[in-house]
Amino acid sequence: MAILPIVTYPADILEKQCEPVKRFDHQLIKLLNDMYDTMIDADGVGLAAPQVGVAKQIAVVDVGDEHGRIELINPRIIEARGEQVGPEGCLSFPGLFGEVKRANYVKVRAQDRHGRLFTLKATGFLARALQHEIDHLNGILFTSKVIRYYEPEELEG
Ligand SMILES: [Zn+2]
Repeated sequence: MAILPIVTYPADILEKQCEPVKRFDHQLIKLLNDMYDTMIDADGVGLAAPQVGVAKQIAVVDVGDEHGRIELINPRIIEARGEQVGPEGCLSFPGLFGEVKRANYVKVRAQDRHGRLFTLKATGFLARALQHEIDHLNGILFTSKVIRYYEPEELEG
C-alpha cells in the first residue's frame, strides 16, 4: 500500500475529461488500492483518479455505510431523481466547503476492478458522493456548482 500525493486546485488535470479504462490489469488494482488508502488517510469519503494525477475514469467511494468500499471504473449515471441541498467539500480544495444541489437518487452503471459491469442505486449522502466523484472524471469541480460557501464558524461542531 502507498499513500499518494493529492493534487490540489489549481491543476490542469483536475479540469479535463478523463480517458476510459480499457485494461483491467495488476496496475489498475494497485492504483485502486493506493487510492483507497490515500482517501482513508486523508479522511475523505471519495477520491477520483485525476486527484492523484491519473487522467482515467477511476474513482473510489466509502461513506461508511453498509455499501462499504465502492470502486468505480468507467462509471455513468443512468438515472437521477429528486433533489438534495447540502454541504460538500473536496480533498483537492482543503478547508473549502460549499452548499451544493445534487440529485437525491442516482443509478450508476460501472465496471469493477475485474471489468465486470454492475449497477448501483444510491440515495442521500452516498448519491451525493457518487455524483461528486463522477463529476471529477468529466473535469467538473464542485466549486462550479456551489450555491454559497460556508464560513469556517458555520462548520464547527
Ligand atoms: Zn472532489
